[in-house]
Amino acid sequence: MDPDVWANDQQRATAVVHELGHVMGLHHEHQRHDAAAHVKFNCPEVRGYAEAKKIILEKRRLPADSDYFDKMQCTDVDEASAPDDRMTFREFYNYKTVGNFDWKSVMLYTSKSGASRGAVVLEKVEGGGTWGWNYEPSEGDVAAVKLLYPDVTPQGGGRPSKPPK
Ligand SMILES: [Zn+2]
Repeated sequence: MDPDVWANDQQRATAVVHELGHVMGLHHEHQRHDAAAHVKFNCPEVRGYAEAKKIILEKRRLPADSDYFDKMQCTDVDEASAPDDRMTFREFYNYKTVGNFDWKSVMLYTSKSGASRGAVVLEKVEGGGTWGWNYEPSEGDVAAVKLLYPDVTPQGGGRPSKPPK
């Protein structure tokens, strides 16, 4: 998650919950196998896009008008790989999906996560709408964690407490 968009304590608390989701084995909802059917990724609206494109094209000694960056880094996720030792998109594909695409998941970025000021990076395929923060784990998030840890009995009723306001 992008610390620049954490405008308040509730969002910072949600970011911690999101990161704990990763620790427990959850991955981003907007990057699941079937995400393209639900979410449109406006890659050029990502903050730093132009600079990253320039660096990658120069590194690969490709002309400035090459479509390599857009194809490899933005759309052709099967071929893309991270420039450093972070997880590659191919590794993302090894994740299992649980349930239907979950618009309430705390693992779903907001429409403006990582965006240039005011821009929309992620929008709904159906109707082109946007969405904001999901402040607590969804039923789908809880179901996925239960699937990963079937032998753990939740304490305190198994529902997350609300993050501070
Ligand atoms: Zn994340």
